[in-house]
Amino acid sequence: MRRVFLANNTNELWDMLRQYPEAAIYAGGTDLLVRMRKGICDPSALICLERMDCLKGVREEGDQIFIGACTSHTALLADPIVQRSFPVLAAAISRLGSPHIRNMGTIGGNIVTASPAGDTLPPLYILGAAVEIMSMDKTRRLSLADFIRGPGHTDLKPGEILAGVWIKKDQPYNIFSLEKVGQRKALAISIASLAALLRVSGEGIIEEARLAWGSVGPTVTVSKEAESFLAGKRPEPGALGEAARIAMDAVSPIDDVRASKSYRRLVSGNLVLRLGASVDGNSPQPAWLPPAD
Ligand SMILES: Cc1cc2nc3c(=O)[nH]c(=O)nc-3n(C[C@H](O)[C@H](O)[C@H](O)COP(=O)(O)OP(=O)(O)OC[C@H]3O[C@@H](n4cnc5c(N)ncnc54)[C@H](O)[C@@H]3O)c2cc1C
Repeated sequence: MRRVFLANNTNELWDMLRQYPEAAIYAGGTDLLVRMRKGICDPSALICLERMDCLKGVREEGDQIFIGACTSHTALLADPIVQRSFPVLAAAISRLGSPHIRNMGTIGGNIVTASPAGDTLPPLYILGAAVEIMSMDKTRRLSLADFIRGPGHTDLKPGEILAGVWIKKDQPYNIFSLEKVGQRKALAISIASLAALLRVSGEGIIEEARLAWGSVGPTVTVSKEAESFLAGKRPEPGALGEAARIAMDAVSPIDDVRASKSYRRLVSGNLVLRLGASVDGNSPQPAWLPPAD
C-alpha cells in the first residue's frame, strides 16, 4: 500500500522528506496522478503540498512579483496583479485545460512537469521569470530557461521543491499576443503556441520583441534572430513574413499523435503573421505561408 502525507508547513515537509526521501511530491496531482495511473511512474509514497498556504498566492516585493508554486491556475486568473501586469500569462492560463483542471492544477506543477506543451512556459520565458527553489537548509534562484533542462527534466535536486516564480513587475512592453493551436478550442494540449511581447512606438514601429514558441521543440523555443529582425520594423506583411521564415528555421518539432513536424513548423511561422493584428486590429493579415510539402 502506498502512503500519502499531507504537509501543512515547511517543517512538516522537511520531516516527511527526511523520512521518505523516495516520496514523490505533488500539488494538484493533475500531471503526477495521471502518470501514475498510466503506469509511467510508481512512487513508494506521496507528499501533497496542497495544504501549504506559504506556497500559495501572488505578492509584490520591490520591483518584483512573487507567485507561489502551489497557486492554482484559477487563483492566478482571478488575481488583479496577474491580470494587470502579466496579461500574456493570464491569456495562456485561460486556455489551459478545463475549469476543473485549472482549479486543481498549479503553476508550480506546470513548470516542474517541464512539458514542451506546458502552457505557462512560453509566457514565463518572455517575461524573464526566475524560479525560487527551496530545500531544508537553503534557497536558490535561477532563470526559468536554466531550470528547464529538457522534456520532463529540470534542475530540481533531491530534497528540493519549487517555492515559486519571480517576475519583474514593470515590463517594458505595450502589446501582448498569445496563440495556442490545438485539435480543439478547449481541453486540448497545444500543437504549437506562440507567446509574444512587443514594445511598439507611437509611430507603430516595433522597438523590441520577445517571442517564445511552445510544443515545437524539446523545451520552449526562442529565436533571438527573429526578435532582432523585427526590432525597428513595422508589423507589416513583408517584415512579419520574413520573421515567420526565420521562426520556421528556429523550431525543431517532432511528429506525434497530435500533429506532424511539418505542420507544426508551418503553424509556428503562421502564428508570427498574426502579430500584426495584435498591434492593429485593422492591419491586413499576410497570406499564410505555403506548406513545404
Ligand atoms: C485533462 C487534462 C488536461 C490538461 N490540459 C493541459 C493544458 O491544456 N495545458 C497544460 O499546460 N497542461 C495541461 N494539463 C497538465 C496539468 O494539468 C498542468 O501541467 C498542471 O499545471 C499541473 O499542476 P499540478 O499541480 O496538478 O501538478 P502535479 O501533478 O501535482 O505535479 C506535476 C509534477 O510537478 C512536481 N511538482 C508539483 N509541484 C511542485 C513543487 N512545488 N515543487 C517541486 N515539484 C513539484 C510533481 O512532483 C510532479 O512531478 C492537463 C492535464 C489533464 C489531466
